[in-house]
Amino acid sequence: MRALRRFTVRAQLPGPLAPLQTLATNLRWTWHPATRDLFASLDPDEWARCGEDPVRLLGEIPTSRLDELAADPATVATVQELAADLDAYLTGERWYQEQHAEGPDMPSAVAYFSMEFGVSEVLPNYSGGLGVLAGDHLKSASDLGVPLIAVGLLYRSGYFRQSLSLDGWQLEHYPAIDPQGLPLQLLTGQDGEPVRVDVAMPDERTLTARIWQAQVGRVPLLLLDTDIEENDGDLRGITDRLYGGDQDHRISQEILIGIGGVRAVRAYCAATGHATPEVFHTNEGHAGFLGLERIRELCTGDAGLDFDQALAAVRAGTVFTTHTPVPAGIDRFGVGLVRRYLTDRLLPGLPADRLLALGSEDDPEMFNMAHMGLRLAQRANGVSRLHGAVSRGMFGGLWSGFDADEVPIGSVTNGVHGHTWEAREITDLLGDPTPGGGRHELQVSPSDVDDATLWALRNTLRSRLVDEVRRRVRAAWLERGASTPELGWTDHVFDRDVLTVGFARRVPTYKRLTLMLRDTERLRGLLLDPNRPVQLVVAGKSHPADDGGKALIQQIVRFADDAGVRHRIVFLPDYDMSMARYLYWGCDVWLNNPLRPLEACGTSGMKSALNGGLNLSIRDGWWDELYDGANGWAIPTADGVEDPARRDDLEANALYELIATQVAPAFYDRSAGVPTRWVELVRHTLSTLRPQVQANRMVREYVEDWYVPAAAAASRVSADGYAAARDIAEYRARLNSAWTKLQVTGVDASGLPDTPVVGSPMTVRATVDLAGLDPSDVTVEAVVGRVDDTDELAEPTTMAMNHRGGEAWEAVVPLPHAGLTGYTVRVLPRHEHLASSAELGRIVLAG
Ligand SMILES: *Cc1c(COP(=O)(O)O)cnc(C)c1O
Repeated sequence: MRALRRFTVRAQLPGPLAPLQTLATNLRWTWHPATRDLFASLDPDEWARCGEDPVRLLGEIPTSRLDELAADPATVATVQELAADLDAYLTGERWYQEQHAEGPDMPSAVAYFSMEFGVSEVLPNYSGGLGVLAGDHLKSASDLGVPLIAVGLLYRSGYFRQSLSLDGWQLEHYPAIDPQGLPLQLLTGQDGEPVRVDVAMPDERTLTARIWQAQVGRVPLLLLDTDIEENDGDLRGITDRLYGGDQDHRISQEILIGIGGVRAVRAYCAATGHATPEVFHTNEGHAGFLGLERIRELCTGDAGLDFDQALAAVRAGTVFTTHTPVPAGIDRFGVGLVRRYLTDRLLPGLPADRLLALGSEDDPEMFNMAHMGLRLAQRANGVSRLHGAVSRGMFGGLWSGFDADEVPIGSVTNGVHGHTWEAREITDLLGDPTPGGGRHELQVSPSDVDDATLWALRNTLRSRLVDEVRRRVRAAWLERGASTPELGWTDHVFDRDVLTVGFARRVPTYKRLTLMLRDTERLRGLLLDPNRPVQLVVAGKSHPADDGGKALIQQIVRFADDAGVRHRIVFLPDYDMSMARYLYWGCDVWLNNPLRPLEACGTSGMKSALNGGLNLSIRDGWWDELYDGANGWAIPTADGVEDPARRDDLEANALYELIATQVAPAFYDRSAGVPTRWVELVRHTLSTLRPQVQANRMVREYVEDWYVPAAAAASRVSADGYAAARDIAEYRARLNSAWTKLQVTGVDASGLPDTPVVGSPMTVRATVDLAGLDPSDVTVEAVVGRVDDTDELAEPTTMAMNHRGGEAWEAVVPLPHAGLTGYTVRVLPRHEHLASSAELGRIVLAG
């Protein structure tokens, strides 16, 4: 008989073991080895069978065993100790509280919105890097004591599970989760009733969501769920899957997370008394509608602001992070579709045309979520230095007239959560990866660890990976239809002593999964080299709708199926966090060969580096800024070669060459059994990269450079009944009506010395017709720089000009450099509440 439905009944724990409930549901166990050890010790076999999931474990352990444990003083003592430790972690002062004591301008709460969260495989709510990054952000925020409230959706089937057909084609499965069986709790109001949030849908319908709360250490994660009886059947399915479905499905999800998400945050704060957020962080464009809801709140609530005033207020407290330099990766909807959803029922009182204008782009038929994100946020950033620069170019059209490097998009290089991603042996050897993040444990410098110890550690981690590879290869073949007697060979897949290279990531085209297959004979030669063999572990999911990506996977699988190489190359299906950690721990080399500069950051290589893995990568994303010549290898990029096939050939060749001439020799040259050169690279990686790739470093940057300024700006604009928001709106209106008429009517540098030398003062004078604006409304700048035949100014120096009365402006500029020099004059908006003079995208150039 098949059950019609299933649900999970939680165990009733005997009194002395009651704290296990909190230890199991607070996801801090995922990065707290002692707590994991405790759960494992309750029933080691069951722990493994439950996929190391404490909530499931507690549901599966027989009552008799629980009673036995409750009578065991040692177990009870450990439970109490760890419960007390968790309590201290949750309530004690951490980095943020220490900072707070010094400066009062820290936000009392920050809301962080993301379409996916990869906190742990027990909560399958992510598809790849974006989600895992968001999960790491929450964990580090928790470790640092940052008062984050996270908002996402609870997907009935998360992302898909991947398996392979016999001929290597990706198959997708969507097992449904049962929220009751997950570390989640329904959010209830002061009245004890489950909280509901409503959002209006087209055709006079209403979508209702309940809110599940996961607890990630100190950080609450609110997940909206529409699978409830109040909703019509089709509306129930809105939170069925991550990135599945059509445009209607997708925009419904995005309206739910953005608009419903703000309502959920309000309900959460009301129910718990938590401080309300001053800062809203939009992690990628999907949740951008949150800004519209906040505009609505200010227009229809007590503040009584008009649209422009509310926009100014909302922008001040909003941070937008963009994650992709791939145009196809940007979320866009048809304008007609958006118009159908953004009704007056959904956002009463907000003019549809104003809303649509926020997402406008070159194509008048399209609504662009990234553009809306940028227009709704006073502060925006990319996720590595290079990606910041690429984003400034990519979105430069929103600031036309400005040079790309003046576009106000900064960068915060991503990081990874050390306690989650490094093997405990590394932490045991070197100490807490994030001292100062609330804990102050003894640090051991990798330079104080001898070669033999480091090498033994790497061997241990590789060996553990080899076991996991064998287990997974066997399971994958059973799933593909092989029978046990045929699978003896899987016991001999991989070798514990062979140089192990990992390549695992999603499979969009730009990541070039199959670059390694460019010359299969060459690859075969590397794998089967009699003296210096290489073994390669590959994994990754293709988006279900991307047959091109599935074909790439099939190519790899077919190559790896060949009996001649299958002991040296494997494709492991169903890449997720539980597999990923074995790869990051055990691979000697982490390979990444994206088409530069399309990898915004990439974080898997960081996780490998935490464990002493050496990166072998195109200098893209984070590797562009953190490769130092001694912590791995840079694959030369043929960036600029127009023909993609030729570019692939060149880069693949460089890759083979590097492996054969540098990587493998360093690994196999031994003295007294130890590869001293290799160990030195490992040691240098641990010394230099381990501290830099930490998500704690990233979250601290977000706090110091983004959240604190945003909170300060939000507090300035809202003071005195939003006086400054009104002022900004009035200023922008004035600017709008005057700006097209404003012009620089004359420029003169007659003050130039006869024989100019570097440093000579040059007097620049200009006359400007301000078209009715006040001189204090603008900055007039002299710009001096190098020029070539095109007269394009390079390395420009700018200097504000002084108002000399009437239309006259003047500045004395010391000549900045020798050689051909040019200058011009420009006018920019000036207002005390602008974060930069480029912010409004307004500029008038002379001439
Ligand atoms: C870290 C991680 C990713 C992201 O890796 P990239 O290098 O950014 O592609 C994807 N999936 C999982 C499971 C991860 O842990």
